[in-house]
Amino acid sequence: MLKAFQTERNRDEAFDRITALVKDIFNVDIAAVSLIDGGRQLFRSIQGLDLKEIPLEASFCRSTWCEQTPVVMQDTKDHDEFADHDLVTKMGLRFYAGVVLRTSEGLPIGTICAIDHAPRIFTERELRVLENLALIASSEFELREFAHRDALTGAYTRRHFMQESARLYEIAARKSLQVSVIMLDVDHFKSVNDQFGHASGDEVLRSLAAACRANLRDYDVVGRIGGEEFAIALEGSPQQAARTAERLRRAISRLQFTFDDAPMHVTASFGVASLQKGERDVAAALARADKALYKAKADGRDRVVVSE
Ligand code: GH3
Ligand code: MG
Ligand code: MG
Repeated sequence: MLKAFQTERNRDEAFDRITALVKDIFNVDIAAVSLIDGGRQLFRSIQGLDLKEIPLEASFCRSTWCEQTPVVMQDTKDHDEFADHDLVTKMGLRFYAGVVLRTSEGLPIGTICAIDHAPRIFTERELRVLENLALIASSEFELREFAHRDALTGAYTRRHFMQESARLYEIAARKSLQVSVIMLDVDHFKSVNDQFGHASGDEVLRSLAAACRANLRDYDVVGRIGGEEFAIALEGSPQQAARTAERLRRAISRLQFTFDDAPMHVTASFGVASLQKGERDVAAALARADKALYKAKADGRDRVVVSE
């Protein structure tokens, strides 16, 4: 997936209206609405600065994103993390307020922020206004750009996964590259729900999808094709795909959860298959990957099986 949420259009009127509101309401020099993924911040609308994207590392929003709560810095110089940062020392940006944008299912997707050249006070009431603007921006994103994504994990819906994998295949074929698919299914997921509740199960799915994304390339296609089943289409041989699957398997098994005050881990099983010569759509390869996945389950789970 194009590091997960980027779209072709980089700016949009609806978001421009929201950033204009942020500027006017709070009387600040800079306002931005952005998507964040894969360590990058992509501005969908920004006023007062001419930027398209920056590494999250170089942005005030990294603190909002990392803490996953609203962040207000009335004077950035008072914050050790940023006091020596170029944003403050070179660009003279002294005030920041930012709020995380989320889908209706709670998946974090970006930020909305207000920035100024002068330190200033930000009242509780102002923060509430910014939080409400964040909700408007979030639903705008969900409406316009997440129609073909699963709101819980950000992965493509089954149907869109099939479309995007077909596109991946066209591109790969022109380069004479193979396309492979990986199917994964969480092991004993029902018992996670039964023991810790559905909300905990949802958290597992969200984290698992994020772990996959972190271990894949921008243009790999990720879909949620069943409740706790995901599929990935990627360029490369079955051996290469198997190595990727193994990396995902390890990343998932290393995820740490705390439910009911106790640590918890999950594992997943994987099936890998490749599109054969002359085979144009991924459905047949998916069916073979599904068979291999079934074998991985039968062989004891938490493993990768490659279709013969
Ligand atoms: P196996 O190792 O054989 O895959 O066992 P399993 O328990 O994972 O398999 P099973 O197919 O029996 O259970 C899948 C469970 O996934 C059942 C369903 O309630 C749960 N599930 C499906 N979608 C969601 C979801 O969106 N959120 C949560 N929390 N659970 C879901
Ligand atoms: Mg299943
Ligand atoms: Mg399962």
